[in-house]
Amino acid sequence: MSETERGRRGPIDGGEAALRIVTGHVVTPVGGPSGEVLDLERGAVAVRDGRILAVGEAAEVLTRYPEGPVEPHGESLVVPGFVDCHVHYSQMNMIASPGLELLEWLRNYTFPAEARFADASHCAEAADFFTEQLIAQGVTTACVYPTVHPGSVHALFRSARAKGLRLITGKVCMDRNAPEHLLDTPERAYEQSLELLEAWHGRGRLEYALTPRFAPTSSPRQLELLGRLAEEHPDVVIQTHLAESLPECGWVGELFPDEDDYTAVYERYGLVRERSVFGHAIHLSDGELDRLAAARASLAHCPTSNLFLGSGLFEFGRLRRRGLRIGLGSDVGAGTNLSPLASLNEAYKVSRMVGEPIGPFEALRLATLAGAEALGRADRVGSLEPGKDADLVVLDPWATPVLGRRADHAESTAELLFALMMLGDDRSVRAVYVAGEKAKR
Ligand SMILES: [Zn+2]
Repeated sequence: MSETERGRRGPIDGGEAALRIVTGHVVTPVGGPSGEVLDLERGAVAVRDGRILAVGEAAEVLTRYPEGPVEPHGESLVVPGFVDCHVHYSQMNMIASPGLELLEWLRNYTFPAEARFADASHCAEAADFFTEQLIAQGVTTACVYPTVHPGSVHALFRSARAKGLRLITGKVCMDRNAPEHLLDTPERAYEQSLELLEAWHGRGRLEYALTPRFAPTSSPRQLELLGRLAEEHPDVVIQTHLAESLPECGWVGELFPDEDDYTAVYERYGLVRERSVFGHAIHLSDGELDRLAAARASLAHCPTSNLFLGSGLFEFGRLRRRGLRIGLGSDVGAGTNLSPLASLNEAYKVSRMVGEPIGPFEALRLATLAGAEALGRADRVGSLEPGKDADLVVLDPWATPVLGRRADHAESTAELLFALMMLGDDRSVRAVYVAGEKAKR
């Protein structure tokens, strides 16, 4: 077995991956535009070699695969592994730092925390803590910001590989408007990004993302060189921030006076395309949304962060109607919880505030298949369908007293799911299977 294969399976159980049947109340979005959901109260998922073999009624699946050991999860929900489309692993030490608007918050909390990633041992420890917490929350695919330090990227890829996670990340590029010790240069950003991309992209479940932090911290020359790299590697993800707060939008206007709007800055340098993932996207005109949609770009909806920093309200309904691909992001450390259930809780409330409430099945899709689509990996993850990676999360609706009491009175799967989203967190995550291996017991 190659190192990559070993990494993909993870060291969790050791030995060869065998057939396994996971039973429970299976709920999963399915591919296609219909927005359909498969809801099997007595369902089962058969997995082997990290892939899903079959999904169906438990009786049927067990007849088809009588030899498989069964892992019964009773009435708990079996859903696809969650997808976090936007999160900063470098910000775990300053999560829940209060009281500031985005730009001040970056200066006062974020940059000092990120400076510590110059130290390789800090990177390794932080990466292991972070990947462990992703699994604890049921997140099996994540698109992550490290720091400007190449060591922060190596550490995160190594840790994700050891745990078998599907993970996309890449060196943060910043050559202005940040503390001197956190700056690179246009050329260094290009060279280091390329070196990391060649070292990690496509190894097992790992992929590279070109990562200019956001327009204010990259010079035109840096964006130009990253655009060149994007052109040379059309299959990699591009991740950055876009129109998160009004002061930020105003600042971008001053820094790039020749561009018509914020989106045009990224367009100018070839950074808007399929698999470009823009965090936040709150303050955008209809014209910008249409251009983003036409380019098949994606947005990461980060509700806990947007509320915490007072950045604004994401208009999920309006944006989706314009044809945008939208995934869910925790955006920790401005986001206040790594739990996708907690993010969905706030996403629901934001959707109420803008007058178009998200339903429970739509919310489940947002945290799973829609995220996979936003990252361009719906062929591999995001739903429980044969052939996809066997990333499964088991959610226990009786994990806490209040949730359990509500679950006892739920009259439909939709009600049960909704209760989990409003009242659940990592305590509700009873088990997690990462590429078929049980990673949280
Ligand atoms: Zn962010």
